[in-house]
This record gives sequence, structure tokens and C-alpha cells, in this order.
Amino acid sequence: MQDIDYDKAEYVTNRELPNDDGEKTGRVKMFSYDNETYHYQIKCPYCGHQFENSEKLGSRPWWIECPECGRSSNVKRIKDAAKKDIKNRAPEPDDL
Ligand SMILES: [Zn+2]
Repeated sequence: MQDIDYDKAEYVTNRELPNDDGEKTGRVKMFSYDNETYHYQIKCPYCGHQFENSEKLGSRPWWIECPECGRSSNVKRIKDAAKKDIKNRAPEPDDL
């Protein structure tokens, strides 16, 4: 995955992804410079497969399918996470 230029990035996230049991066995790193094309690197929480891609993502929610096991993970936007954190008063330290 290419290095992220944080000065130019409009959107960056780096968070854990839970599996069916709620265990955080996966991870997604995602960023965009224009809020249109998103670059992401994902470790699938269901099978552990790691993959990366760049694609134009439309409206939410975003579901990104693992090419290995075919399961999809929901990638939340950072804005949603921030709102949730305020509500629950439980910030996620790995959110950039
Ligand atoms: Zn998978």
C-alpha cells in the first residue's frame, strides 16, 4: 500500500473489524484524497486474508467483499465513528 500523505488526505481511517463473534480479528486501513476514490487495505476478520484495492465508492454503507471467502465487511466512515465515540464516551485510539 502506498504511503498516505496526511496533508492531502480528505479521509483516513484505520480500525479493527469484528467477526461474527464480535472478536476484532480483522483490520481496515483506508484513505482518500478526493472523497471519491478510496484506497484500502483489509485483513478479513472472517478468514484472515489480506488484500488491497482502490475503487470509487458511492453512498454508504460501504461493504467490501473479501475475494477469498466472499464475506463482506462494513466499513464505517470516520465521521460516524466520531459521533458514536462522543455518544458512548469510548474513543477508539487507533482511529486517526
Ligand atoms: Zn475473507
